[in-house]
Amino acid sequence: MTRLYGGVMPVGRYAPSPTGTLHVGNLRTALVAWLWSRHDGSGFRMRFEDHDRHQAATEHERAQLRDLAALGLDWDEPVTRTSDRWARYDAVLDELIERDLTFPCWCSRRDIREAAAAPHAPVEGYPGTCRDLDGTGRAERAATARVEAPSLRLRGGGEPVDFVDAVVGPVSGTVDDIVLRRGDGLPSYNLTVSVDEIDEGIEIVVRADDLVPVTPAQIRIIQLLDGMRPTYAHVPLAVAPGTGRRLAKRDGAVTLAELEAVGWTAEGVRTELARSLGLCGLDEVPTPADLVASFDPTRLVRRPWIYDLDERTPW
Ligand code: GLU
Repeated sequence: MTRLYGGVMPVGRYAPSPTGTLHVGNLRTALVAWLWSRHDGSGFRMRFEDHDRHQAATEHERAQLRDLAALGLDWDEPVTRTSDRWARYDAVLDELIERDLTFPCWCSRRDIREAAAAPHAPVEGYPGTCRDLDGTGRAERAATARVEAPSLRLRGGGEPVDFVDAVVGPVSGTVDDIVLRRGDGLPSYNLTVSVDEIDEGIEIVVRADDLVPVTPAQIRIIQLLDGMRPTYAHVPLAVAPGTGRRLAKRDGAVTLAELEAVGWTAEGVRTELARSLGLCGLDEVPTPADLVASFDPTRLVRRPWIYDLDERTPW
């Protein structure tokens, strides 16, 4: 089934940062993102969010794609990269500046922390220090700033934005004065991800639920740019047993290669991921095609996954 929005084929995506090997928590989220797209015949794209591109990025990209393919995922070409699109983001920023939707900010992280610690400061978020400065105020901030160059912030103003997350349910959030361009001149993640959802015609955004708090700001940016708001589906994180903290590389055998080294097969890992998500029975061993055919988002388990594969008998 193919649906068209403004001539753009609707798609889902998975958008990792190529900073290392994906761990099973990431692979699990990618599996959900892929199933969500493919089960109704939509496109599925890979986007590498490589704001801090460094030498090893290409190697990490290859390794991430290899692990996803080993689990049975496929994607539509081209694979895209944030770092290929600086000119596009600059053009969007110029437009937002022109429309007076932004302001330059000379606050360092320390300034923001200190302002937040002051009595009567807003409980969280940007304290507003540079929001309403006139020309003189800006010149003063520039002269005394602890940062070399200002960042550019959205005039979010704490505006409420509600949305219904396809996994989490109704979310009421606010739009903070988030950074759109960092002090080093690069566009921020929140800006690039929003522009990319529009340009790629993304219909369904599946990602880990630690990004729920920034979603209202991304929705706001998409609205300001007259884009189509995607459906958001935030999947609970994988957490380490014992600590309950988000799974990290130090928590034992957590990458596909590490699991394979102790005897797991890609099929075993995929099946355990699907079982942990509630997408198949505990005695079933579905193929990727079976998972696509039977995918039902309403069955998704809505609590964090306590990681246990490295304590189990590999298969
Ligand atoms: N690149 C982000 C990450 O790896 C994901 C952002 C997103 O899916 O919107 O955490």
